[in-house]
Amino acid sequence: MSFDLNKEQIDIRKAAREFAEKEFREIRRELDAKEMFDDRLWKKAADLGFLGVFVDEKYGGAGMGYLEQCLIIEEFARVDLGITHAIESSFFGTQLIMLAGTEEQKQKYLPAVCSGKLRMGVAVTEPDAGSDVVSIQTEAVREGGEYVIRGNKIFITNCTLADFLIVVCVTEPDHPRKHERLSTIIVETNRPGYEANTFHGKLSLRPSNTGEVAFHDVRVPAGNLLGSPGRGFYNIMEFFNRTRVQVAALGVGTAQGALDKAVAHVRRRHQFGSPLASFQLVQGKIAEMATMTEAARSICYRAASKLDSGTADPGLSSMAKWYSAEIAVKVADEAIQLHGGYGILEEYDVAHYWRNAKVLEIFEGSKEIEKVIIGRKILGDSKSKKA
Ligand SMILES: Cc1cc2nc3c(=O)[nH]c(=O)nc-3n(C[C@H](O)[C@H](O)[C@H](O)COP(=O)(O)OP(=O)(O)OC[C@H]3O[C@@H](n4cnc5c(N)ncnc54)[C@H](O)[C@@H]3O)c2cc1C
Repeated sequence: MSFDLNKEQIDIRKAAREFAEKEFREIRRELDAKEMFDDRLWKKAADLGFLGVFVDEKYGGAGMGYLEQCLIIEEFARVDLGITHAIESSFFGTQLIMLAGTEEQKQKYLPAVCSGKLRMGVAVTEPDAGSDVVSIQTEAVREGGEYVIRGNKIFITNCTLADFLIVVCVTEPDHPRKHERLSTIIVETNRPGYEANTFHGKLSLRPSNTGEVAFHDVRVPAGNLLGSPGRGFYNIMEFFNRTRVQVAALGVGTAQGALDKAVAHVRRRHQFGSPLASFQLVQGKIAEMATMTEAARSICYRAASKLDSGTADPGLSSMAKWYSAEIAVKVADEAIQLHGGYGILEEYDVAHYWRNAKVLEIFEGSKEIEKVIIGRKILGDSKSKKA
């Protein structure tokens, strides 16, 4: 078992680092303050082949793996998580099309998304259905050759920017098993009855677009169904097994970025006649931050490698997501602490890392839900078993 990246992976990581340093570093604070994004960054990232590298070459991707995608995401997030999320969410859902799409759907959407011509998103969450995905109420009723969609979604990334969303809807309301009532359907956002509004004043990911969607009897062709009817819940869980590893990479990059800032500061700042870096308690903090970051990186890469070898492990994906998110918050918190009063000033950047890190513990499965998945994997479904 090798723990080393190969030459190609090292080159990808280097290219991603150079791109993020050159393109994000200068403008990150301005985009955050203005809660805006510059689409040219998305287009440039597409031109350089950073989007959907795990997508097969015949569908416009690089034919690489989730590990390579994680390396790119990590290097981007090391500089700025908000910009990274705005870019990587443009292909949030390609994993699902790869898993469940027809040949026609793959050819129609994947090359356009990987090349930065179309932007997409995935709409699962509803006002009354967050962690509890099976309680989704948005319905898609079959009428002849169409589905008519009505309902509401909330916290949807790219809701006012995406060209299309994959929407989780109830299509089989009478199925006795509630997990088999849901389906995934592609909805183009220019269809009549689609309405979306963006949220402002977010703690995290301010350059990224998040908001709410209302479907007022939106009609889509029945051919927009993604996968089989009633398989929506399972499609989404398979999808999350993949995207949670990408969220883990966001956490690793964020932790590393905050750690880099802390190391530079403790070397520079003098108190009691010596650099902060010379005090053993400070060295201990840096050691803990570096060790947590390295441990998160190892789980993330291992989970990504499992996806790439076709032996996806949902428990490992959840471990990677939970742990990386939590340590990103912890490392950013310690980075603020090591900056003292300067840490709370935006211009020192560490508060920025902390604000952004927090959302990683919430979306795509909160850390509590990840632990439920890990616990179930180890203990089984103990509710249905006698002690
Ligand atoms: C910036 C951002 C972008 C997002 N983008 C998208 C997107 O593109 N598409 C999309 O569909 N969704 C998106 N989401 C939504 C996100 O996935 C949900 O917020 C998340 O799944 C949690 O759901 P909720 O907010 O309804 O919280 P709830 O489910 O109400 O949970 C609230 C708290 O209760 C805890 N909890 C719930 N159930 C349990 C349990 N069984 N055991 C223990 N604790 C529990 C949770 O862990 C959490 O701490 C986004 C959210 C944010 C903040």
